[in-house]
Amino acid sequence: MRFAAAFFDVTLQAIRRPPKFSQLLVICAISGGGIIAYADAKSDNNFDAPGATNKKKLVVLGTGWAGTSFLRNVDTSQYDVQVVSPRNYFLFTPLLPSVTCGTVEPRSIAEPIRNIMRKKGEQIQFWEAECHKIDPVNKKILCRSNICTNSEGKGEFAVDYDYLVVALGAKPNTFNTPGVVENCHFLKEIEDTQRIRRSVMNCFERACLPGLSDEEKRNNLHFVIVGGGPTGVEFAAELHDFVSEDLANLYPTVKDLVKISVIEAGVHILTMFDKRITEFAEQKFQRDGIDVKTNFRVIKVNDKTITMCSGLTGEISVPYGMVVWSTGIGTRPVILDFMKQVGQADRRVLATDEWLRVPNCDGVYALGDCATISQRKVMEDIAAIFRVADKDNSGTLTVKGIKDVLEDICERYPQVELYMKSQQLENFADLFKDASDDALKESKKLDIEVFKKALANVDSQVKMLPATAQVAAQQGNYLAKCFNKMKICEEHPEGPLRIRGSGRHRFHPFGYRHLGQFAPLGGEQTAAQLPGDWVSIGHSSQWLWYSVYASKQVSWRTRFLVVSDWIRRFIYGRDSSCI
Ligand code: FAD
Repeated sequence: MRFAAAFFDVTLQAIRRPPKFSQLLVICAISGGGIIAYADAKSDNNFDAPGATNKKKLVVLGTGWAGTSFLRNVDTSQYDVQVVSPRNYFLFTPLLPSVTCGTVEPRSIAEPIRNIMRKKGEQIQFWEAECHKIDPVNKKILCRSNICTNSEGKGEFAVDYDYLVVALGAKPNTFNTPGVVENCHFLKEIEDTQRIRRSVMNCFERACLPGLSDEEKRNNLHFVIVGGGPTGVEFAAELHDFVSEDLANLYPTVKDLVKISVIEAGVHILTMFDKRITEFAEQKFQRDGIDVKTNFRVIKVNDKTITMCSGLTGEISVPYGMVVWSTGIGTRPVILDFMKQVGQADRRVLATDEWLRVPNCDGVYALGDCATISQRKVMEDIAAIFRVADKDNSGTLTVKGIKDVLEDICERYPQVELYMKSQQLENFADLFKDASDDALKESKKLDIEVFKKALANVDSQVKMLPATAQVAAQQGNYLAKCFNKMKICEEHPEGPLRIRGSGRHRFHPFGYRHLGQFAPLGGEQTAAQLPGDWVSIGHSSQWLWYSVYASKQVSWRTRFLVVSDWIRRFIYGRDSSCI
């Protein structure tokens, strides 16, 4: 994202219908995060939280979007809370690409976690350490601090928990491509952005040194971005703005040798966005001279060249000055180890149920990028659903009988409603149209076979939630609220009917509300995709982007810093010092 020329020129494209004010407010609600945790001591290495009480021990792992959102919303007076993370700050990741080119400074998007904890007023402990093992059998986690060692010289300690909230995020995914770790930059942490910024400047300074041929200069100024998702595209746009708005004036002799390439294995970039956005982005990049290579898979990277292949060209190697690898996320080793322990070794991501609980693991919850919700399928439970609806155990149902439990079914299996929407069915009875000619009559008896046939396709609508800050923050907020009403809901459960058991679930399952997404494309233009199939591309959306991202900062301090960075950049341009 960046601030370019035409500030007041507003381009609004491909609008199906104008946004309502409420929709704008909704996007302005893309969330933030929080964290907590707590510990106690049983063995020598176990840590006794000062002021430990007989409250339940709640340990939170991670200070990212999920953890911080949880921390900010949980009632810390009810639990002994302890937070463990190697990062003692919350990081506003959507602005990381802006930091790579100096549009925003690193400290402007980081909020110390202790500031957030202090605002809670209750005693919360924070340990700057990495959890390297989760031991669900003994209900403890093993941690290692990188900044200090204990008397045994190990810097290791253990923390017991009653409840564990795992919000460890993910690591960059290299798909085991040779040479990536050694030669490429990632864009995940604040340190990555600082390395990228230095590396960009080094490439320019190197290209200006005497004695280099034009070809060597050109190679030095070839910036390659692997991955055409939102992060890769935003970084490419940001870099292009940096070069054209600032560096072109400072390095006039080499400015025409700069090349930016985006390599994408799929057919298009930004495939998770509406087609109109994808097309606009590709055309804009073409106009800007950014080389988008689709259908290319990178197979290896060495210190000078990157090798890729495609069906059309076969294998080609091109020299580069800097490569940024942004091809998605993978699972952290500590989570992989935990998955083995809880019988999920065959999965790629840690699975939870719809209440964010890790199955067969008492008191452990997982949220954000490190986990995925495994939505229960209707067809797996079809006989049980039938039984619940068949209150008189007659072996047959009426549409009216189903309607009595419909709300519970739709809450437990959200795919039912999604399926009805996708098929443009107005009410539940319409589902039975094809299954039985006269099933629409409310009193008509349906047997299990008709029931199965009617619901046979609903599971096609089960969708995995995207790995975004929006999902992570909503999950943190949801889980905190569940923790806050744990006691009340034990006596008065508020969730849907248990389909395979009796009574009701304690809580409503987690429900994700998509508030829209942005793709900054450079030149003060952003693509926005809002709920209700509403798409806006251009300078107007850039202003929306500025206001949403300013409003979503976790503190007034960072809000002020970010806005003043934007103003500073507008007035003075970006800083090109190689610091
Ligand atoms: P994280 O935010 O990654 O937090 C993980 C936490 O766990 C960190 O505090 C980390 O230090 C800690 N941790 C790691 N290992 C350990 C350990 N062993 N022990 C203890 N703690 C540990 N999403 C959007 O919705 N919109 C955007 O515009 C957007 N832009 C993005 C741009 C970039 C460059 C990136 C990288 C991501 C972007 N995302 C965006 C995605 C978003 O940042 C993630 O989905 C989100 O951060 C996930 O939150 P999380 O809490 O699960 O993980």
